[in-house]
Amino acid sequence: MKEYDYLIVGAGLFGSVFAYKAKELGKKCLVIDKRSHIGGNVYTENIEGINIHKYGPHTFHTSNKVVWNFVNSFVEFNRYTNSTIANYKDKLYNLPFNMNTFYQLWGVKTPSEARKKIEEQRKPFLYIKNPKNLEEQALVLGGLDIYEKLIKGYTEKQWGCSAKKLPAFIIRRLPFRFLYDNNYFNDLYQGIPIGGYTKIIEKMLDGIEVKTNTNYFDHKGELNQLADKIVYTGKIDEFFDYKFGELEYRSLLFKNELLNIYDFQGNAIVNYTEKEVPYTRIVEHKHFEFGTQPVTIITREYPIEYTKDNEPYYPINNSKNQVLYEKYHKIATQNKNVIFGGRLSEYKYYDMDDIIKEALLTSKKIIYE
Ligand code: UDP
Repeated sequence: MKEYDYLIVGAGLFGSVFAYKAKELGKKCLVIDKRSHIGGNVYTENIEGINIHKYGPHTFHTSNKVVWNFVNSFVEFNRYTNSTIANYKDKLYNLPFNMNTFYQLWGVKTPSEARKKIEEQRKPFLYIKNPKNLEEQALVLGGLDIYEKLIKGYTEKQWGCSAKKLPAFIIRRLPFRFLYDNNYFNDLYQGIPIGGYTKIIEKMLDGIEVKTNTNYFDHKGELNQLADKIVYTGKIDEFFDYKFGELEYRSLLFKNELLNIYDFQGNAIVNYTEKEVPYTRIVEHKHFEFGTQPVTIITREYPIEYTKDNEPYYPINNSKNQVLYEKYHKIATQNKNVIFGGRLSEYKYYDMDDIIKEALLTSKKIIYE
């Protein structure tokens, strides 16, 4: 008999949801995380009464009622709706691409005028039947103006490579609509947990043993002895000691600033879509929770190359990396004592709600096995 049923590597969303469900079913878990805190990349830190999204802005959105009810069982959500602004050469545009954007770009006022304009813009690219990369997909969707002003610069900064080398699905994340509707998402439910994301994770992990500042790879031998099964949410290539080679990720540098003013930009997120500005966006955290603090905190987000000394935020899902990932995935499925889950372990550009859904499904499947 081992001390724990599950050793959970990573106290982010996947690990915490799994641990919560396992505990509910009477299983004993040990959750470890190499960082000094729980929550993974959804971790929020309260400074001056403002919840700072330490690892990038996270707006919760989902159309899955089970997931929505699940997160709401831990904390209440506010009515925040993400509506990002884009700044291109000092002109502002609404995102996602909608009637406001089309008006700002071309002065068109009705959906039929906008459709006509977009058809003109798309026409030179309609010979592309199956867009093979992000650039082709963007041009087929909206034509040259939108691509050049709102997509190309941002995307190439964000990913550090040509938009021709990126998968088309990335740009399909953004809605395209003929309504005056700046809601960044199409989902039924949306909001920010009142009091920050850390509160949800704390509640999920309540009564579960958690060890932060604990790197699995530094104590692998002893940790593996402690539990019957491992739930691993870290990088899949690292788990297998990079035996087939290294997967690529994109990293970020966050530069925070506390300003002695009430507000800075009047919106939670402003994207800088031209290539010459080195950061992709400025986040003003208080606006996620309609903060009324006398000061404000902003974060400039600089995409940077991933090295093993910084954080792997985004998997770069191009074909080369997918082939490599499949190799790791294949050996991972043969390993019955280890459950691989989450963004780093599945090498997938996951949204929070999908991670929760996966963790709920995995826990159900595995724990009842
Ligand atoms: N994107 C863009 N212009 C923008 C915002 C996004 O071209 O102003 C593209 C870019 O390629 C980005 C992708 O859309 O990587 C997905 O954007 P999203 O806002 O979903 O990115 P996240 O918040 O996950 O970083």
